[in-house]
Amino acid sequence: MKLAVAGKGGVGKTALTAWLGDYLRRGGHQAWLVDADTTLSLGPALGLPFSRIPLPLSQDAALAAERAGNGGLLSLTPDVADLPDRLSLDVDGLRLLVMVQAASCYHTEVVTTSPKAHFAGATHIEFSIQNARERAREVVSLAIAAYAKRNPDRVEIPGKPVSLISGFSNEAVVAALGGSLTPLLDAIKSGAIRGAVGVVGCNNPRVRHDAGHVGLTTELIKRDILVLDTGCAATAHGMSGLKTLEAADLAGPGLSAVCKALHIPPVLHVGSCVDNSRIMQLCGLLADALGVDIADLPVAAAAMEWYSEKAVSIGLYAVASGVFTVLGVTPPILGSKTVTDMAVSGLENVLGATFAVEPDPLKAADLIDARISAKRQALGLKP
Ligand code: SF4
Repeated sequence: MKLAVAGKGGVGKTALTAWLGDYLRRGGHQAWLVDADTTLSLGPALGLPFSRIPLPLSQDAALAAERAGNGGLLSLTPDVADLPDRLSLDVDGLRLLVMVQAASCYHTEVVTTSPKAHFAGATHIEFSIQNARERAREVVSLAIAAYAKRNPDRVEIPGKPVSLISGFSNEAVVAALGGSLTPLLDAIKSGAIRGAVGVVGCNNPRVRHDAGHVGLTTELIKRDILVLDTGCAATAHGMSGLKTLEAADLAGPGLSAVCKALHIPPVLHVGSCVDNSRIMQLCGLLADALGVDIADLPVAAAAMEWYSEKAVSIGLYAVASGVFTVLGVTPPILGSKTVTDMAVSGLENVLGATFAVEPDPLKAADLIDARISAKRQALGLKP
């Protein structure tokens, strides 16, 4: 029998796995424990010091080359039958095998400083109040020595500082509009602003940093769609210059004219990722002013680079409130057809909105544009 123990950090995966191993061993069963967690805490949970944790295959380049070849033609069917025995360690009758080492994912030094956060392969320099200054010097010296080991192809350091306009709470939006929502409603009705989209959420290592947010937002403003942002998406937009008055020139003619008249950028920074409720509050104000439901408004949300559990709950909050929400990274729901169908279509009839999954920023813009056009038409407005 094979059993996978998974879940977010801190929920007890390691402890449960160690207990299961111990339970099986006491029952006379032969058990193998495979640690595939980047923190490699299963060894210590079994009582092993970090220095005795076995090396994963990924750390034994010579062995990998011996079995699969080294450059040129690689063997896709190497003989690995002996590797579990060779790479595992007997820990009181349990076999421990290790799959990953977090430190090896980085091309510079990884330093851990807390006894609760040892990573195998990392250099551990433990802090205490008494030795903090001395330890800090050691870490800085390591960092300086590691600088030369950087692979320039994998380093992207932002250039010069950028200017941006920030701080658009709902009160600030109303103030920028001259004290009431009427100018925004008029712009939406006339089609100068065709709709509004909250582009929010995280950066995700599976997506080129900021490319999802910036690609989508650049396309939306070109199509006269106002963007409101929060969270890490807001940083991406700020760094790419989309939150300046000059960025109005990148917007379509309608949105550009509104931005220039009101002296606002085409991308309004609403706050941190917990401030998405402000965007929803603004949707509520617009819906009340038009006498319709939030689901009837020409609005949408997008989280092109989401990764955190918090982002999932915020996405659900948006859809549950009636806002069509595009995700750029596929959520881990494909194992259930029922849940997948419900997320991408079934919720429409219940909540008036669904999720869509589209990693390509241009195609995501097309999906949102089509949705906004449909909502505008349903309100009797020019698409
Ligand atoms: S949840 Fe974390 S990573 Fe995601 S937007 Fe908020 S701060 Fe950024």
